Amino acid sequence: MLTLAIQKSGRLSEKTVKLLQECGIAFQNGGSSKLKATATNFSMEILYLRDDDIPECVADGIADIGIVGENICLERARSLTIVEKLGFARCRLSIAVPKNTEYSGPADLNGLSIATSYPNILRKYLAEKQITAKINEISGSVEIAPGIGLGDAIFDIVSTGSTLLSNGLREVETVLKSEAVLVSGPELPDDKKTILKKLLFRMRAVNEARNRKYILLNTPNDRIEQICKLLPGMKSPTIMPLSTAGWSSLHSVIEEDVFWEKIEALKAAGAQGILVIPIEKMIT
Ligand code: ATP
Ligand code: MG
Repeated sequence: MLTLAIQKSGRLSEKTVKLLQECGIAFQNGGSSKLKATATNFSMEILYLRDDDIPECVADGIADIGIVGENICLERARSLTIVEKLGFARCRLSIAVPKNTEYSGPADLNGLSIATSYPNILRKYLAEKQITAKINEISGSVEIAPGIGLGDAIFDIVSTGSTLLSNGLREVETVLKSEAVLVSGPELPDDKKTILKKLLFRMRAVNEARNRKYILLNTPNDRIEQICKLLPGMKSPTIMPLSTAGWSSLHSVIEEDVFWEKIEALKAAGAQGILVIPIEKMIT
């Protein structure tokens, strides 16, 4: 049995649970008093924790693996291995100053006091840049610190920047880009490694599929070659004759972002009746 620690409730929890469900892992979720759950169809136990506690829990072997933000993982600086980046809960850790403060580069931080709940990551950054600044460690609502005299600048999580803006702050340095990661402790026994391998195989299949679409279109036969050049598929597209003579149906897999760029070119090349369908899992 593999024990996985996940966030009980917060910005990571919904997407984490969704990812596990898409991996076909069934478990009882929900209920505010929930501390743990056992999967009914996979050899896994799930622990619900505060995200801050996940790195320690995994490092100490209470959980074998965990899903947590890279930011928390680095701040806690425990000997954890990042097994997989998961592509959600993207954010960055940035330094921001009151919007009217002049700022032309990291050297301007010398002599300032910086409020943060990420003292370790900030300390490392300041040392790398050879900056002497005071670190004011506070546990939450960092963005209000300058307004109440608790710091000249802040170092905190930013996703869209709107919280900074509404607190009269301006982002001046991005120190770290973060996303949710799957972490594991130092050494797992072989039986747990086998389960982790199975889980990873499924997670990769889900993540591969997320950005890709299945595309079907009809094309005159004399345009097939031209259209194929526009559609780099998994290997090469499937081509099937339509009952209308001289026409074929072409099937392929395409990255969604690319699709929107290519739609005009496909139509101009003669494609008709284009269908784009989500892919649930993809094993390459
Ligand atoms: P807990 O109660 O578990 O300690 P928390 O309040 O400390 O939760 P959340 O706000 O739920 O933490 O954020 C969890 C993680 O989600 C952060 O550590 C970060 O990795 C990521 N995150 C934070 N803010 C955002 C955001 N605005 N957009 C996307 N991801 C974010
Ligand atoms: Mg937390």
